[in-house]
Amino acid sequence: SDDYKLVSGKWKVKPTTLDLGDGVHIGQDDFSIMLGPCSIEGEEQISRTIRHLKDNGIRIMRGGVFKPRSSPYSFRGMGISGLQLWHQLAQEAGIKIITEVMQVSQIEEMYPYVDVFQVGARNTQNFNLLDELGKVDKPVMIKRGISGTIDELLYSAEYVFSAGNEKLILCERGIRTYEPSSRNTLDLNAVPILKEKTHLPVVVDPSHGIGIRHLVEPMALAAVMAGADGVIVEVHERPELASSDGQQTLDHQQSSQMIDRLRQTYQLR
Ligand code: PEP
Ligand code: MN
Repeated sequence: SDDYKLVSGKWKVKPTTLDLGDGVHIGQDDFSIMLGPCSIEGEEQISRTIRHLKDNGIRIMRGGVFKPRSSPYSFRGMGISGLQLWHQLAQEAGIKIITEVMQVSQIEEMYPYVDVFQVGARNTQNFNLLDELGKVDKPVMIKRGISGTIDELLYSAEYVFSAGNEKLILCERGIRTYEPSSRNTLDLNAVPILKEKTHLPVVVDPSHGIGIRHLVEPMALAAVMAGADGVIVEVHERPELASSDGQQTLDHQQSSQMIDRLRQTYQLR
């Protein structure tokens, strides 16, 4: 059969949990909040973000150093030197790093500095990249394709799993629909459906999902009640100055409020 199997909840009934070390887990009985800028921009921005995470008890920082931009003239990220700088500062603070890998050749150079490899929505069906990430012994978070179905996301996870890497996280980040009022249509249906179909942890990205700053928090809270294992949210001290995705990025005050409400909401689940 060409159906997915290894990622199926029938194949493994017990939910998968991931151990990132130093007491940081993703999965069952843990709601993971991952925060950070869309793009890593420099030492000061990294330090201020880490301070914000520490102040709020958050252990996982997101950020891109290789950015998939619609226009080739947009900021495309600091590259590997930005990742090295970030890793040095994050490690000192006990913060874990999740960041996007765009191509096979980057895996090896990024490996020492990454805690979770992110596969972006434009690469969900880059099967060569998925095969190679299957040979890595670090967790991989796969985002749903821009026009991808839930089953296509599961097949992408099956690629990585069947190539040898079982440390997987799935991410709903909105899909492209006919609705122009929001950047994407955040498909929260995917959360309970995925939780039923697979044993893998499911994370929601409300930032790219709705794309409108003041509407990110309600969708993050909705993700909790939909059954998500975590959220990944774009945060910047000065969103209006961010190199990318400022329009959907929370400032630190908005972020702290969201974190408090996420924790309160999780208690209700
Ligand atoms: C991002 O996380 O900044 C990003 C580019 O996300 P996506 O791949 O979901 O568009
Ligand atoms: Mn972004």
